[in-house]
Amino acid sequence: MDTQFEECAEEIGRLQRCINDLVSLLALPAIWSGGDASYIGRTALDALMGMLRLDLLYVRLSFSGGDTPVEMFRIGDLRKQVGWPEEIGELLNRWLGDASKQWPPPTKIRVGVEDMSIIPLRLGLQGEYGMIAAGSQQADFPTQIQTLLLSVAANLTTIGLREAELRNEQSRAAAELDRRVVQRTSELAAANAELRKEIAERTLVEARLRHEETALRRSEARKAAILDSALDCIVTMDHESRITEFNPAAERTFGYRRDEVMGKKLADVIIPPELRAPHRQGLARYLATNEAHVLGLRIETTAMRADGTVFPVELAITRIAFDGAPSFTGYLRDITERKWAEEELRRSETFLAEARRLSSTGGFSKRIATGEIRWSAEVYQMFGLDPAEPLTHERMVSRVHPEDVHAFNEILKQQERGVDYEHDYRLLMPDQTVKYLHVVAHAVCDVDGDLGYFGAVQDVTQRRLADEALAKARSDLAHVTRLTSVGAMTASIAHEVNQPLSGIVTNASTCLRMLAADPPNVAGARETARRTIRDANRASDVITRLRALFSRREATVETMDLNEAAYEVIALSLSELRRHRVILRQEFADDLPPVMGDRIQLQQVILNLVLNASDAMSTVEDRPRRLVISTAAEDDDHVRLMVQDTGVGFDPQSAKRLFEAFYTTKSGGMGIGLSVSRSIIESHHGRLWAVPNDGPGATFAFSIPRTSEAVIRAGVSGPVWTSGVTDTPQIPRKL
Ligand code: ADP
Repeated sequence: MDTQFEECAEEIGRLQRCINDLVSLLALPAIWSGGDASYIGRTALDALMGMLRLDLLYVRLSFSGGDTPVEMFRIGDLRKQVGWPEEIGELLNRWLGDASKQWPPPTKIRVGVEDMSIIPLRLGLQGEYGMIAAGSQQADFPTQIQTLLLSVAANLTTIGLREAELRNEQSRAAAELDRRVVQRTSELAAANAELRKEIAERTLVEARLRHEETALRRSEARKAAILDSALDCIVTMDHESRITEFNPAAERTFGYRRDEVMGKKLADVIIPPELRAPHRQGLARYLATNEAHVLGLRIETTAMRADGTVFPVELAITRIAFDGAPSFTGYLRDITERKWAEEELRRSETFLAEARRLSSTGGFSKRIATGEIRWSAEVYQMFGLDPAEPLTHERMVSRVHPEDVHAFNEILKQQERGVDYEHDYRLLMPDQTVKYLHVVAHAVCDVDGDLGYFGAVQDVTQRRLADEALAKARSDLAHVTRLTSVGAMTASIAHEVNQPLSGIVTNASTCLRMLAADPPNVAGARETARRTIRDANRASDVITRLRALFSRREATVETMDLNEAAYEVIALSLSELRRHRVILRQEFADDLPPVMGDRIQLQQVILNLVLNASDAMSTVEDRPRRLVISTAAEDDDHVRLMVQDTGVGFDPQSAKRLFEAFYTTKSGGMGIGLSVSRSIIESHHGRLWAVPNDGPGATFAFSIPRTSEAVIRAGVSGPVWTSGVTDTPQIPRKL
């Protein structure tokens, strides 16, 4: 019984130990968590050795992927050498063979120097994780419990190893994943950077493209605007001479629409037939040899309109700078009008040159800033100077008449003022001949604002000599007229002179008588002697005036009082008027401004008008014969003298004829009085006219310019220049 109990208790004890060992084994996976295969193998060896009192425990751990297996072993109390794990492994391999499923059951084999029972256990179904071999010298080895514990341990180790392997794989996979992620990330980052760079480049390219497009559009718009608004015709053509552009100016000029000519051969459209062959040859030569005769030049040629008319054009051709086959732009300008104008200019230049030659006129120009003077050939000829030699002031002045040098230099000084001027001067040539020159000059400013002059110099010597001859003839005629007029007054003048002469005789006789008385009447004699002197003076005055009127002398310009001149004429003709029973009234203006003129000539005019008025009234019996002589200052710086009569008057139709030479209605008339009078007044820059009165009779009047202040100040004896620079009126030097 006791034995049964004991056995039972022993059995229970064994079972309890077995359970404890199982629990210990089952705890192993918990401590393996995270450990590697070696750690699992090692701890499994240590646990089994502790609980099974084995003499040998060998473990070989195989790894997938061909890694070298790890072998380890534990030996129990055996102090004897059993060899190295490799040797034990070798031994076991030889014993067990390759086929793990057919491994022999536990059996005794010799390990090292010891015989022991060995039990092999596969790790994994096929032993793919290796093996555990447990050895013991105990006779009952392995017991059921030992086999159980070893099997459980082998299974747990297998599971541990699988988990470790899984973990390994997982961590390898995770590491691989991480590596791949890192690699992919860096690849992505690189790709991203590349992409960004590409995007940036593309953005840049797009921006550049946009900019270029805008520039292109702008340039296209500009080109279109230029083409549309160009005043010149712009025609472009390609290397085959086909028209590629035809602007509106070309449409207007040639009479074609753009769409009509685009793509057509230029030669067939606007080139006149005779120029087509040269055009084709020129283009072919250029394409073959690059040799151009017209490129880049401005040439004048002809072109043809749609209606076939040929007209002159100015043409410039440029090659369009572009790769590939060459194309060309032609700028054409219709120069019909210019040609016509040039022709006109040439013709008028020829006329001008001829006119200059005929009128002895030359031209000059002068730049005031530099003093540079240019003369035309005619001026050199007038001065008798050689154009080849430099034109200096000294050389010019050497030819100017010494009396005119001062005035000539004055004019040069006045040029600084930039005013237009006109003046006359004389040249004294080496052969002592005198030339008269008339100069008209216009001040101009050039583009730089520099003052200059353009002028014309005319040799007026011939005209001057003719004028002088004319003046002399006129003066001679006037003299004759005077003689005629005065001749008509002879009786009156004789009477006029006679009167004081008989007065003188009477007074002298009376004087003698008074002196002969006893006592002599001295006071009376003195008085009669005084009257004698007065009468003698009166006679002398008449004679003086007559002498003046009769005298033949050069005309002289002077400042004179027209009232005074008229008064003298009246004094001279008073007897004549009285004889004709003319009632005279003088209406002389007070403060009449002086005039500039020839006193005798003007008096002749007045005398002529007075005598004509008297003649016109000689047949009038039914009304008083009134004669009014009046003077007045006019608004426009002129002075007027009027002679109004109540005579027969004249027919307004014949008013013009009165002033014609040799027109007379009088039986003994010559018909030159009014004609000479008009030429005298006109030479004074005045006007003589006649108007019928409202009532009977006619009024004859003349007006002449008053003397300007400048002339009065200058004095009449000084030279009178007809310069446009000063205010001097244009009064001829000699009348
Ligand atoms: P003449 O006195 O010798 O005829 P004039 O030239 O002085 O020459 O005059 C020309 C003509 O003008 C006169 O014949 C006369 O018919 C006309 N005539 C001149 N003065 C007057 C006048 N005061 N009234 C009318 N007719 C006049």
